[in-house]
Amino acid sequence: MNLILFGAPGAGKGTQANYIAKKFNLYQLSTGDILRNEIKNKTETGKKIEKIINQGDFVTDNIINELLKKIITSSSCKNRIIFDGYPRNITQAENLELILNADNQSINFIFFLKVNRETIEKRILGRITCEKCNKIFNEYLDSIEIEKHECGNNFLKKRKDDNEEALIIRYDEYMKKTKPVLDFYSSRSYFHEIDGSQKIQAITNKIEQILVV
Ligand SMILES: [Zn+2]
Repeated sequence: MNLILFGAPGAGKGTQANYIAKKFNLYQLSTGDILRNEIKNKTETGKKIEKIINQGDFVTDNIINELLKKIITSSSCKNRIIFDGYPRNITQAENLELILNADNQSINFIFFLKVNRETIEKRILGRITCEKCNKIFNEYLDSIEIEKHECGNNFLKKRKDDNEEALIIRYDEYMKKTKPVLDFYSSRSYFHEIDGSQKIQAITNKIEQILVV
């Protein structure tokens, strides 16, 4: 089986991808890793990629497609790929289908780990730290643990963190960019939207339930 995993920043996509890959013996395909490998191995394509990146440009879809094709059709990865963070746009989605179809493969499952903006904000902005033991809590999610905390509540402080706003902007950008790709896939019977605000284990269980049917 081949599957695609989409997830907004903060939805725990990486954790789930690693787990599923291990459990079902899948090859976790990340285009970032593929590009880095080409550069590291100093292949012809790698040299080209390095030049493009050094110029501050984006690697073209053509280059990515060629590299993808090599992996997708290879005997060791064929029909056991988990696409992590790909495709990012409609053109890539269409190309992916062409590559798969030409090799008699298809996408069997698509998962979208959905977290709404409110949850992301709570996760990011609710962080409080105990200045005595440095333990981190979330004021919205850990109310029981906070109440029982051994240092008492006097040391619990909110730290101003410049990353907070950046994280929320990153979420907004992801959702905006990914929306067309999700729309492209969402009517398909093998598209599954999963509540990414649940605990990691609950999300894993849900995905497994769908995969083993
Ligand atoms: Zn403490």
